[in-house]
Amino acid sequence: MAPTKDGEPPLHILFFPFLLPGHLIPMADMAVLFAARGVRCTVLTTPVQASTIRSVVDRANGSSYSSSAAGTPMSISVVPFPDVGLPMAAQSGRDLATSRDYHDRFLQTVELLREPFCRFLSDHHADIDAVVSDSLFHWSAHAAAEHGLPRIAFLATSMFARACTDTVLRSNVFESCSDDHGAVVSLPGLPHRVEQRRSQMMDPAKRPHEWAMFQLIHAADRSSYGELFNSFRVLEPGYAEHYRATQLRRRAWLVGPVALASGSLEDVASRGAVAGALSPDAAVCLRWLDAKQASSVVYVSFGTMTNFSPEQMRELARGLDLSGKNFVWVIAKGSTAASSDPSTPDGFPTANRGYIVRGWAPQVLILNHPAVGGFVTHCGWNSTLEAVSAGVPMVTWPRYADQFYNEKLVVEVLGVGVGVGAEDYASCLETHRVIAGEAIAESIRRVMGEEGDGAAMRKEAKELGVMARGAVEKGGSSYDDVGQLMEELIARRSSVGCT
Ligand code: UDP
Repeated sequence: MAPTKDGEPPLHILFFPFLLPGHLIPMADMAVLFAARGVRCTVLTTPVQASTIRSVVDRANGSSYSSSAAGTPMSISVVPFPDVGLPMAAQSGRDLATSRDYHDRFLQTVELLREPFCRFLSDHHADIDAVVSDSLFHWSAHAAAEHGLPRIAFLATSMFARACTDTVLRSNVFESCSDDHGAVVSLPGLPHRVEQRRSQMMDPAKRPHEWAMFQLIHAADRSSYGELFNSFRVLEPGYAEHYRATQLRRRAWLVGPVALASGSLEDVASRGAVAGALSPDAAVCLRWLDAKQASSVVYVSFGTMTNFSPEQMRELARGLDLSGKNFVWVIAKGSTAASSDPSTPDGFPTANRGYIVRGWAPQVLILNHPAVGGFVTHCGWNSTLEAVSAGVPMVTWPRYADQFYNEKLVVEVLGVGVGVGAEDYASCLETHRVIAGEAIAESIRRVMGEEGDGAAMRKEAKELGVMARGAVEKGGSSYDDVGQLMEELIARRSSVGCT
């Protein structure tokens, strides 16, 4: 596709990610994807975040597709990390689950980045066609509008979760529902029948501040030009139509899985690693996997924002032991888990059956390793999509935010996972009801076993993986959605130029 009329400069999109890895990584991948289609992309971010995505950007610029012929390099514009008193080591946002102080200070950056963002827009707006902003920066809707720029929102979640949250915010779903622990809330007007336990939802009565923030975010996104999703059409059956036509009448583009479009697996795995380099530990882990039989290992990781109590860690260790499966278990540095020793339960880890990664794991490489046959996940959307892309079925263990909705999509709509039985919405700093080792082992055996529905789930997961790759290839639905958005922005440029 020719991006612009002859002689016109290419489209220029400003990407403005929130600073947490789960938001930063997919937005950087998304920028790479647009650069590959001839769009000039600038990522506006802070120093530690810039160093995390630098290797991805350099590789994109060095590769034949983004720079040379089209003359459309990617660049990073760096603004200082807001002065909230966070030590450099905590500025990556990977230790937030371990300290309320870090967590609260980090969240202050949402508001404090307003000033540098507005200054950047004042200086450069004439040279920019659109802003892709993280939804958390709700104020960027107003700032972009002031300069006549279309703001496109990105919340790093599924369209399914987004549609569920939208329904909850617009309909009074809690009014007719008791607040008993087991009470079930029905979400009306969605393409699927969706019912959720009240205890698994963000409850306005219990979390008024978070609720108010969500209302602000959704209002800003509704007033924006449109929304981008790191997803693909067949993964969320009926939701693109729901979004665009039937219910919400909003512009939306599904352009993912963005990680699949951004280079080799090695490239993808190294983004997010500090300084863009895989640690020697990561290589050892991959060699360990090389020695295992196909589909014999369960990968256990809960993203960057989940912390478990020592009691839950012991049950998880017991569950892995009882499952009888090989495992790779990622324990984030600085987490409660890292300070409590998971080898304490009797007989754990069983010799040669388990590998523990302390720190940052090359998740995408692990999920795509032939030895991996299942993934115990918190259902963060990036992890979910990475499992889908790799064709790996999941044991779902959601905690908060969009995770319970993502679980519903995985288990009930797509049939590629088994829930471990998480029932309570509990943010990264809160404790939740402990899940017993037996329940964990049972879910792992169901997903990875030969009996029951495991085989069907694995087949379905493999087929979804093939469809994910097809979506980002030329002629695929996500490839087409990228082209569609570019065409709309070019048309808009012409119409704005004419007025
Ligand atoms: N990730 C990784 N290695 C780790 C931990 C996380 O590569 O050791 C990546 C993971 O592949 C995903 C992102 O970090 O891309 C986590 O995003 P997700 O939405 O799954 O969870 P969050 O951390 O935002 O809760």
